[in-house]
Amino acid sequence: MGRKLLIEHVHVPGIETLEVYRSKGGYTSVEKAIKTMSPEAVVEEVKKSGLRGRGGAGFPTGLKWSFLAKPPGVARYLVCNADESEPGTFKDRYLMEKIPHALIEGMITSSYALGAHTSYIYIRGEYFYVARILEQAIDEAYAAGWLGKNILGSGYDLDLYVHIGAGAYICGEETALLESLEGKRGNPRIKPPFPAIAGLYGCPTVVNNVETIAAVVPIVNEGGCEYAKIGIGKSTGTKLISAGGHLNKPGVYEIEMSISVEEFIYSDEYCGGISGGKKLKACVPGGSSVPILPADLLLTTANGEKRMMTYESLSDGGFATGSMMGSGGFIAYNETACIVRNTWNFSRFYHHESCGQCSPCREGTGWMEKILHRLENGHGKMEDIDLLWDIQRKIEGNTICPLGDAAAWPVAAAIRHFREEFEYHVKYPEKIKDPNHFHKQSFLSSKQSVTI
Ligand code: SF4
Repeated sequence: MGRKLLIEHVHVPGIETLEVYRSKGGYTSVEKAIKTMSPEAVVEEVKKSGLRGRGGAGFPTGLKWSFLAKPPGVARYLVCNADESEPGTFKDRYLMEKIPHALIEGMITSSYALGAHTSYIYIRGEYFYVARILEQAIDEAYAAGWLGKNILGSGYDLDLYVHIGAGAYICGEETALLESLEGKRGNPRIKPPFPAIAGLYGCPTVVNNVETIAAVVPIVNEGGCEYAKIGIGKSTGTKLISAGGHLNKPGVYEIEMSISVEEFIYSDEYCGGISGGKKLKACVPGGSSVPILPADLLLTTANGEKRMMTYESLSDGGFATGSMMGSGGFIAYNETACIVRNTWNFSRFYHHESCGQCSPCREGTGWMEKILHRLENGHGKMEDIDLLWDIQRKIEGNTICPLGDAAAWPVAAAIRHFREEFEYHVKYPEKIKDPNHFHKQSFLSSKQSVTI
């Protein structure tokens, strides 16, 4: 059994309450940090831990914290990005809903480290019921003296607010989130300046994901070096993965970043194999934005090594043969899944969520959606496949924020690995009008569908 640092007590009755959370050792990181450590020492432990941002980019958290400007007399902010909107990703929701105090404890310890006296949890509008759970937990924390003035008699003050967004995917981009938090339309800002220099209200700001902030608790409790002993290479600690799609046991799992993808999919401790006795065809390992991989490349890298559930291994081979850890939204597809339909579905989402500021994203996502729609519905032409490829190439790297890349990558990977399936849609329009057309096993090359 792998170690659980974040959700070990998730099934303890009443763990959402302060009383039960405290009985399981809750808030000891706040006591340890505030009573025995300087803010700089907390930052140092986070650096030693090797913790990488769990929202998608995987940037080293301690390094990000060390960039925070500290001009005298200017407020600093910590903002928690709880705008979890990536299709296939629901691990932050699980953590906040089940153990809200884990996030609040992480917010207090992290705010102390950064010298922030006002902090925010920006949560997506669709999670309004989770926001209520967090607010209730925050009220408990205030009443018990963990928030507010003079925490633990230390002279350190902290106010924590929950801000509910209006339900826009783009507000998960950190500068769009800050715009929204300031009461404006959630349009991404052109960077630089980065939030560490000029963030919320123009002040130095750190924006971290829910899971990242919660991970600060075990790091402070056990020490950064202990945390770094878990995992492989630069993928240290544990990682929450939300597993969905054609799996026997979809759900949220906390894994040590040292297990293989094969173990994650097929072992009974995790997903328990592919549902319905079918074969695995493909997988999106890190949320809808990351490249889809056919089964053979998912389980084994192009070098013939076992693919591991780490940042490095999942991206091994670049986009030619690899993918990304992303936000940890693991979506498995069995042999009946239609890759064209899936790609169209993702494109529809990105077109809808584009904020429209830059034309490659605003126009390109619309064109990709239209072309994929006609391919999926039997009206496509062979040239459409190359046109689609051309459009995604013109979006990637040419936009203000990463949403453009996020829209382009799934299309590129689907064509790269499943081109014959796109061609099949053009060649056999009558067959794909059959709702049961989804490609029979015989359609797949032996490499694209494997059984363990
Ligand atoms: Fe808006 Fe898309 Fe440009 Fe991002 S890439 S700023 S979402 S138009």
